[in-house]
Amino acid sequence: MTRGPGEHGAGPTAGSTASATTGRADAGPLPGDVPAQQTGPAVRAVWCESAWLGAGDVVEAARVEVDAGGLVVGVLPGVPAREGDAVLRGVVFPAAANAHSHAFHRALRGRTHGGGGTFWTWRKAMYRAADALTPELYEELATAVYAEMVVAGWTSVAEFHYVHHRPDGTPYGQDDAGEPHAMELALARAAVRAGIRLTLLDTCYLAGGFGAPLQEGQRRFSDGTAGRWLERLARLREVVSSDHPAHHVTVGAAIHSVRAVPEEDLAVIGRLLPPDLPLHVHLSEQPAENEDCLRATGCTPTALLHRHGLVCDRLSAVHATHVTAGDIAVLADAGATVVLCPTTEADLADGLGPAGEFRDAGVRLALGTDQHVVVDPWREMRALEDGERLRTGRRGHFDSGTLHRIAALHGTASQGRHAAGFGRGRVADFMAVDPRTTRTAGSSRDQLAYTATAQDVTGVVVGGILTAQDGLHATLGDPAALLVAAIARLDAAAAAAQVREQR
Ligand SMILES: [Zn+2]
Repeated sequence: MTRGPGEHGAGPTAGSTASATTGRADAGPLPGDVPAQQTGPAVRAVWCESAWLGAGDVVEAARVEVDAGGLVVGVLPGVPAREGDAVLRGVVFPAAANAHSHAFHRALRGRTHGGGGTFWTWRKAMYRAADALTPELYEELATAVYAEMVVAGWTSVAEFHYVHHRPDGTPYGQDDAGEPHAMELALARAAVRAGIRLTLLDTCYLAGGFGAPLQEGQRRFSDGTAGRWLERLARLREVVSSDHPAHHVTVGAAIHSVRAVPEEDLAVIGRLLPPDLPLHVHLSEQPAENEDCLRATGCTPTALLHRHGLVCDRLSAVHATHVTAGDIAVLADAGATVVLCPTTEADLADGLGPAGEFRDAGVRLALGTDQHVVVDPWREMRALEDGERLRTGRRGHFDSGTLHRIAALHGTASQGRHAAGFGRGRVADFMAVDPRTTRTAGSSRDQLAYTATAQDVTGVVVGGILTAQDGLHATLGDPAALLVAAIARLDAAAAAAQVREQR
């Protein structure tokens, strides 16, 4: 259904129209969803050529009124834009929420295919890049990567961050070595500059495998014990919350994987992790992890986490590619989220996770760009559906309404954030796509999820403010130029480090 002007009975007050549009795309409580918020008076507006409220539900010429906190106050369809409105051309959707990112992996794009490569050769290259990072280089690179995300339509990101310390493992801020939390604060500054909402998932990473010490290149990831990681996490939360409002930057927690955190430390985390933090973990991405876990502990990675009370409704299990029916039931019973990263999983030949089984079991699915071989919510949505088609030999697993719900609502829920959308009290984050490009021409507006790409995004709004337009960031300009410069500087630093090593 496409409604025309006035069909909402659009009255003069925003409040009366808001209730008419609080439906479809962002309706209904989700398990773990954060409810809509109280709004204040409207101070700005976003005018949408067409606003997609849900499958079969598009309104034309909609003016979305936004309060000072960046929340939707109401939607007036069938009205012209007013001076000062942020104007979005094309079809406007709730913005996407990126539920899994390692910003520095962007430096590896297009570099790990020589000789074919495997997951493990990719990981070796990744460690070389991690080793060269300094807070300054990381801030520059992450700013570029987050700008790339924003112009593509992602307005929030869960950054799974484990490059905490100096390369030799010494914490920043110790022995006059830089400011405390230097890497984490660099990422926070990068997010603020790019205008993306950041959930900084500070990650516990203690071992090089089951019963294996850290390897060369992993030292800067580790706090030594779960107890020391929890102490640093608590201090980081204080610093970040005093520097940044929660709608912009918050801290969450992550366990790198069951291979990187010994079972006794999982037990400590299960007992002592503050209950209000979102918790993410890489889970069963590779069969080798499952085999090692079974050998070491007698159970699957999911069952091991469950044993220590870590499978719960705040848990986001990233990948969950090689899971058993029992694992799926455990994740579903707990109300956990599974974060799929379809373009990364394809790039790394991880395999196809059982997305349909998760959905049927009631597991909430979200999407992430992980290693950033692609930074495009439209491609991730499509790859999720395509993967299921290839896995099952059938079409039509995820309709477009479900895909947008996964990309937008579930991604924010996974971050413990309020959801974006058109409903009153939702966060006014939107992405607009042009339905008349070479890629999208002829597409029904309901089926743009199967045709559009980031190149078709005409505008992105964060908190009611136009933050990107036609591939350019409003304050940072062309993300490509930022990426070229940042990657060149990181390469130069890595080359210099190699020369020092060879001497
Ligand atoms: Zn990852």
